[in-house]
Amino acid sequence: MSFDGKTRILKIDDKSLKAARELILSEELVAFPTETVYGLGATALSDSAVEKIFKAKGRPSDNPLIVHVHEDYDIEKLVYIDHDYARKLREKFVPGPLTMVYRSRGAVSPIVTCGLDTVGIRVPYHEGARKFLRAVGVPIAAPSANVSKHTSPVTAKHVYDDLSGKIPLILDGGKCSGGIESTVLDVTTDTPIILRSGLVTAEMIKEVVGKCEYSLNKPTDKARAPGMKYTHYCPRCETALFGANETERAQSFYDICVKDGKKPLFLSYGDLDNKLSGNKFYLGKTAEEIASNLYYGLLEGEKTYDVIIAFEVVTGSDVDVGIMNRLSKACAKK
Ligand code: AMP
Ligand code: MG
Repeated sequence: MSFDGKTRILKIDDKSLKAARELILSEELVAFPTETVYGLGATALSDSAVEKIFKAKGRPSDNPLIVHVHEDYDIEKLVYIDHDYARKLREKFVPGPLTMVYRSRGAVSPIVTCGLDTVGIRVPYHEGARKFLRAVGVPIAAPSANVSKHTSPVTAKHVYDDLSGKIPLILDGGKCSGGIESTVLDVTTDTPIILRSGLVTAEMIKEVVGKCEYSLNKPTDKARAPGMKYTHYCPRCETALFGANETERAQSFYDICVKDGKKPLFLSYGDLDNKLSGNKFYLGKTAEEIASNLYYGLLEGEKTYDVIIAFEVVTGSDVDVGIMNRLSKACAKK
């Protein structure tokens, strides 16, 4: 099956899964929902298929892709599981929003790993992702289904807005519930190391295996998770980020924006919502709710507003780390 330049959005059923399988086996791209964000998938076994992902996204060629498989796929065909703690973590968190980086057996295309000797593997929990991965039967390399640097998509329409005309098929599984990308965990070392924070937190990992560290991503370090060094998650409008206790300053900034003829939007959460007046998108109260609505708020906000005004997220949960990693990049000066 080849690509005629037209992007279709289809609900997930036997017919669309058959079309997805035919496309994937013809080395074409298919976007699919997961419990984190929408992924842009290609067979991880073909150089030319994986190259299409980098081209469609405009993704830097040194930023490796995560390989997605269903829960009955034997990952030891692709990687070595060097440490027993990794098996324990699999029992507890797989399937789910955790990507584990293992030593590669060299079975997937070198374009997936950008020449690294490791591969990140994820087994999604999302029903639609599971059906898709079972239907295609091959390991699927997939980054988030957005144009590089833009906010990650959490609905099929978000994917369409970014990639229409560039990919043949988007499988529609509704709004993603998790809302931020998977935790990326290096399990090649004696102690597991978090390369990217997400909904599976260091505390949760420590509870199971007694140890977990964060990677020290200093700007000068050779990045362990190369993707972490790039501009990321940015909405296509102006942004500003204030401290959680800076609601008055933020309100003054909002009022100045209005005077300047701009349309601003607060991304509020928890109790600070009561202290703000104007256009607001409420993210939620708990860290999980905020994570779930963050990209949705940024992507819906950029459509209607000129300036998105966000706040440091302090809920006391370990998930705040992952949220702030995304939000500070989304609001960084471009
Ligand atoms: P994305 O596909 O946009 O969700 O980003 C995937 C993230 O996983 C990026 O930060 C990558 O750098 C990271 N990643 C993927 N594969 C590896 C790997 N083999 N080693 C280290 N980090 C990886
Ligand atoms: Mg991404």
